[in-house]
Amino acid sequence: MIGLRVDIYKSPKELQDYLKSYKREGKSVAVVPTMGALHEGHLSLIKKARTLADLVITTIYVNPTQFAPTDDLDKYPRPFEKDCALAEELGTDIVFAPQDSVMYPEGYSTEVTCGGITTLLEGASRPGHFDGVTTIVTKLFNITLADHAVFGQKDAQQVLVMKKLVRDLNIPVKLHVALTIREEDGLAMSSRNKYLTKEERLSVPTIYKGLQLVQELYNGGERSVQILKEAVQNFYHRQSFYNLEYVSIADLECYEIEESIETGAMVSLACSTTVSHTRLIDNILLGDL
Ligand code: AMP
Repeated sequence: MIGLRVDIYKSPKELQDYLKSYKREGKSVAVVPTMGALHEGHLSLIKKARTLADLVITTIYVNPTQFAPTDDLDKYPRPFEKDCALAEELGTDIVFAPQDSVMYPEGYSTEVTCGGITTLLEGASRPGHFDGVTTIVTKLFNITLADHAVFGQKDAQQVLVMKKLVRDLNIPVKLHVALTIREEDGLAMSSRNKYLTKEERLSVPTIYKGLQLVQELYNGGERSVQILKEAVQNFYHRQSFYNLEYVSIADLECYEIEESIETGAMVSLACSTTVSHTRLIDNILLGDL
């Protein structure tokens, strides 16, 4: 691509071959898996990766197997040249951007499934989503020979699933989590924010305000899950630009906490806006987890 120094690989085999010889020199690799349409959130992951290893690989791949037929796969933004320039600016050495036909060639039929946790919360709302994620991430770990991988706290359950995947399959990758990057008004950055109408965009920062309300109540000593949930649900029901899918106060296995929070909790939610039908998720962590 004109003017770019970053190396772009599209073939898993070519990248593996290069990395095998690179790693023979004792060098380390950090990978940042993304679906592109890079924003400050992704860029913070790349910056973190830069501090972890000799070589930083950013993968840009809109993985079809983690989308349901009704999801936004076709309209998902793919500004590839801009992404490569941004990735390079922040310290990416290699962009891996394969085609579907290479990742899932004819005859492909293997799936990596993590049990339990992947059926809850996002897994319940989006059946099969995490099977797609765990399969593609396993493939990306194998292709990039990664020693380190960076994921965003924005997708809190995904982080927990990744930890389980790496632990259960003894994958020799060290996981790192980067904080959620937000717009000035608190909205968590997301490639999907581009879909929002002007009016929705003005309204959706209240998603984070609801989470902050829970945080304030928790900091003030409230531990009752019922009281915390009711407070945030009442707050969200006053918002007319989105419908709440779920609000959850869960432990790190994603099981709902029944009565009161003992040491900490993950508060997460999903909602869909009413005009552009954009699905948004966000979360905060309470206490010591
Ligand atoms: P995606 O391209 O949406 O699949 O996201 C790729 C990675 O970027 C995932 O690990 C996400 O959790 C992370 N990410 C997405 N949005 C943010 C954000 N606002 N702040 C931090 N990390 C993010």
